[in-house]
Amino acid sequence: MSEILTMIKDRDPEQREFHQAVTEVLASIQPVLDRNPEYRQAAVLERIVEPERVLMFRVPWMDDQDQVQVNRGFRVEMNSAIGPYKGGLRFHPSVNLGIIKFLAFEQVFKNSLTTLAMGGGKGGSDFNPKGKSDNEVMRFCQSFMAELQRHIGPNTDVPAGDIGVGAREIGFLFGMYKKLRNEFTGVLTGKSINWGGSLIRPEATGYGTVFFAAEMLATRAESLEGKTCLVSGSGNVAQFTTEKILQLGGKVVTLSDSSGYIFDEAGIDQDKLAWVMKHKNYRRGRIKDYVEKFPDAVYTSVAADLDYNPLWNHKADCAFPSATQNEINAKDGQNLVDNGIYVVAEGANMPSVPEAVDIFLESKILYGPGKAANAGGVAVSGLEMAQNSMRLNWPANEVEDRLKHIMKSIHSTCVDAAAEYGQPGNYVAGANIAGFVKVVNAMLDQGLV
Ligand code: NDP
Repeated sequence: MSEILTMIKDRDPEQREFHQAVTEVLASIQPVLDRNPEYRQAAVLERIVEPERVLMFRVPWMDDQDQVQVNRGFRVEMNSAIGPYKGGLRFHPSVNLGIIKFLAFEQVFKNSLTTLAMGGGKGGSDFNPKGKSDNEVMRFCQSFMAELQRHIGPNTDVPAGDIGVGAREIGFLFGMYKKLRNEFTGVLTGKSINWGGSLIRPEATGYGTVFFAAEMLATRAESLEGKTCLVSGSGNVAQFTTEKILQLGGKVVTLSDSSGYIFDEAGIDQDKLAWVMKHKNYRRGRIKDYVEKFPDAVYTSVAADLDYNPLWNHKADCAFPSATQNEINAKDGQNLVDNGIYVVAEGANMPSVPEAVDIFLESKILYGPGKAANAGGVAVSGLEMAQNSMRLNWPANEVEDRLKHIMKSIHSTCVDAAAEYGQPGNYVAGANIAGFVKVVNAMLDQGLV
């Protein structure tokens, strides 16, 4: 298998995050390949690491000073063996092809785990929505969709949100798609409830991650009741992770953004969380402002060159990384374990570097990797597609019940696959193996396409 890694590194040496994601999957699936020699004969590895299609395009737009700006747009259609391409759009200055490919690759296995018929894709742009006016964001989204609309459709490729793409951006993107194509379809998920969205979609990733953590705890006859939790980020995933932890009786003491984090020893209760949601989602403010409103909390700015993140150096029971990739380095991983954390449930995609993952696995803590733990978001996106096709809306409790059921099923699928291949309790192996087997069997069924 090392030849596959050599091949992708030689072909695209700069795509470090993509290499990281592929390395992790390949490390898990050797026992599957040993048991199924037909997979290697059919070159499934060579095929699964190569996107079915990569789109890169110019996105010109006019800023408020009448200056033309140009960004780069991406859509990676990674694998459609089990359904239409499905995966979010990320608007962040760090976006490049390697990051979109890693996210699309992860998405293939995640979507496979959800039990729904969705292939994997991901897209985005190096556009930075931070500090832009609503009109600038609208003009950018319209230009982005003017090109993307040629390649997507409700039965082809269905994008959604991710970092920097929330309800506002999905609205602008959908409006332009509808105007250009003259059709009102479920081409995007994460839509507002008044025009085709699903109840519980905004909550789904965070809620699902907490349900997954609760399932892991249940294997040790424990629950989230009374547990102290560290949450990073303060966007969509972090907010609804915090909300569900509170509902299940836990206490959240941290939130962050890319500048620093707040520590609130008394706990972020529902009222404080409501303030955070308003401040982040409507005033588009920073997390440091929390301590002006709630002066008992402490704000710590985190320098980019610090070799660890002090957020992960507090005593607690559970950690929910919910910001971005590689936000937990090896030192952070060790700090977490040393501080008594024994549940890590990843709301973000690939937030832990490989060395940190090794520390979690060696320590035998309950470690739920993102592609399993945060699959609730795309699962409810799948439910939004189903509702759009039927032209009806399910009530919130029905969607949440389905989400809970799907997370339970993902958890048991991971447990069973890990046990079947001799690695009981290893959710990384379980998620990679179960996700992989379903997709490659579909690829084999469909011939060399
Ligand atoms: P949001 O844009 O709503 O929030 C992102 C949060 O993470 C912000 O607080 C942001 O801070 C912080 N952040 C972003 N980049 C960095 C960075 N380089 N360093 C430190 N902090 C950073 O995004 P989401 O909540 O939707 O996404 C968070 C994570 O969850 C991502 O990894 C995403 O891929 C993953 N995810 C999201 C899903 C969804 O449904 N939305 C589904 C599955 C996974 P700042 O404002 O300073 O940038």
